[in-house]
Amino acid sequence: TKWDTKGDLDESKNLPIYQHKATLQQAVKDNSFLVVTGETGSGKTTQLPQYLHQAGFWSNGKIGITQPRRVAAITVAQRVSQEMHCSLGREVGYQVRFDDCTTQDTVVKYMTDGCLLREILADPVLSQYSVVILDEAHERSLNTDILLGLLKQTLSSPDKASKGRSVPLKVVVMSATLETDKLSVFLGGCPVFTIPGRTFPVTSKFSCAIGPKDTESSVYIKEVVKVALDVHTSEMAGDILVFLTGQSEIEKACDMLYEKAESIDYRYDVQDHKVEGLLILPLYGSMPTDQQKQIFQPPPPGIRKCVVATNIAATSLTINGIKYIVDSGFVKQLNHNSRVGMDILEVVPISKSEALQRAGRAGRTSAGKCFRIYSPAFWEKCMPEYTVPEIQRTSLTAVILTLKCLGVHDVIRFPYLDRPEERFILEALKQLYQCDAIDRRGKVTRLGELMVEFPLPPGLTRALLQAASLGCEDLLLPVAAMLSVENIFIRPGHPEKQKEADKKHRQLGVQAGSCNDFTMLLSVFEKCKASDAPSAWCKDNYIHWRALKSAFSVETQLREILLRLQKKRDFPMEKFDGNKSELFRRCLCTGYFTNVARRSVGKVFCTMDGHGSMVHIHPSSTLFDQEAQLDWVIFHDLLVTSRIYIRTVCPIRYDWVKDLLPKLHEVDVYELSSVARE
Ligand code: ADP
Ligand code: MG
Repeated sequence: TKWDTKGDLDESKNLPIYQHKATLQQAVKDNSFLVVTGETGSGKTTQLPQYLHQAGFWSNGKIGITQPRRVAAITVAQRVSQEMHCSLGREVGYQVRFDDCTTQDTVVKYMTDGCLLREILADPVLSQYSVVILDEAHERSLNTDILLGLLKQTLSSPDKASKGRSVPLKVVVMSATLETDKLSVFLGGCPVFTIPGRTFPVTSKFSCAIGPKDTESSVYIKEVVKVALDVHTSEMAGDILVFLTGQSEIEKACDMLYEKAESIDYRYDVQDHKVEGLLILPLYGSMPTDQQKQIFQPPPPGIRKCVVATNIAATSLTINGIKYIVDSGFVKQLNHNSRVGMDILEVVPISKSEALQRAGRAGRTSAGKCFRIYSPAFWEKCMPEYTVPEIQRTSLTAVILTLKCLGVHDVIRFPYLDRPEERFILEALKQLYQCDAIDRRGKVTRLGELMVEFPLPPGLTRALLQAASLGCEDLLLPVAAMLSVENIFIRPGHPEKQKEADKKHRQLGVQAGSCNDFTMLLSVFEKCKASDAPSAWCKDNYIHWRALKSAFSVETQLREILLRLQKKRDFPMEKFDGNKSELFRRCLCTGYFTNVARRSVGKVFCTMDGHGSMVHIHPSSTLFDQEAQLDWVIFHDLLVTSRIYIRTVCPIRYDWVKDLLPKLHEVDVYELSSVARE
């Protein structure tokens, strides 16, 4: 055969999907829309694109597969390139925001759903593709939902669909389970192909550790660690998968496991299965991909693997050999917070369907067990039946702008799989109007057409474009890049070290001259870039070198986008006479005037956006403890705990925002929406 048997392929022949290879190839040929569903691990993500490749689809264009999560896009592309015996970036490649690993040879392309949405902007009929696979549709990510609506619209109008294409586009929608009938109906009654799965029973046990009132992260971290260790010492062989909320919680839990696991005697005989050691592996979105490989490898003999993961391990990535689940019952989720009028990343209880999905991860190869650290009362009182789709709980500003740029003027009657509340659409229109991306009639402005090109939040893009028009983009580009990567600053858990880290960070801010958190980002960026030994510099200053390195690359890419736009269009230019620090902060104000707060009493500030939220400066800020000297500030985001904190803060003068603030109240959203309804 064409393939040499390195074991990989044999393995893939054992996957449930393999039996249906020919049927699936034919089904894609015969239908413009197809829904494919099957248990996690049945081989949908890694195998179907290869089947379509083998069936020759690539000769009419690329086979594109979208993933809601960037790690999944990267990891799966790596795996599939191995299975196809080619190096990553050649026949098989991936593209995620700020990281393009494809070449002209790439015919199987994994990417985030956000990337495909950007491609549609440039090429509405996706003329480069023969097949587009929307994977993980059950996750109901905002971008996948929008893609579903857009592709439905395009393919259902024949003249639109065939324009600029030689052969019609094929769309496959893949989903773990759930709601496939709904998907099929939405897509005009298209066929649903179900891959019969084999799963084994999983017994779930509640505990009484977490009740309806325990949302403190220290409580559930401690508890999952305790339960994981219990499993390790008392259960038969088989790997453990712990579900936690995010990177810092996962790192904390892993630290505790390392510490405690050392004091346990592993020479523990459980029914002939020697379990000697515990191999602890973290898994979260922003971790280095070379570290992720270990997750998939079987542990050494006699060693038990314990993966501590975010929800990414629920469906996006399948880890073989898992027999035990430890479920924290929580997830980190972006939600629109109506109290403060912004999207906020919060830790919330998972839904019951999510809990079942998590438990199911233990039953792939044999019967498994799921240990829930929460009580039946928690299940009843705190956990909703289903997870609310992202489109119904987050800000729609960026996607509404994308839709408008695609010529979808009526954003209210767009075919949504689940309709967002009208007030969310109105809110998005209002924000777009406030940052000059659309006009009073809801039409995209020239500025809006520029803004949509940047994969950044609208306010930040607005500030960046303002800086560019004043010729000072060098100040804003690094800041935008630094705000686009995760966790630049290391804040160690150990109290002494934490103090030292905070001190170092503050020094970096003070050295930057005018002291605020935005100039601090700029200063860290520039200092490290100028350093001869950047990684040592980072270590010394408690900065994540890896994060900073990606900020360098992001900055370059944002600069390229800007240059491209400046070449393509005549770019508005203004003149400004004033000092640099003022110029910098004024540019920020054009984008962040929606996030203005004024000090009311003591350390308390009040936001000016109509919500009038009472907020505090977060302790990580360089301005923390200097509140008395501040009056007006702008901020990048909010953190809601028992208090509302503002983070990445900058003092400003009232007269810089005086003319902008009325915009927050003047706009009549119904005027914008009545146009939307036309
Ligand atoms: P599905 O999309 O149906 O959930 P996948 O195609 O993701 O299934 O997974 C099929 C199989 O391939 C699983 O057994 C999984 O463990 C394996 N697999 C996927 N990615 C990797 C990888 N990077 N390394 C090793 N095995 C992998
Ligand atoms: Mg999959």
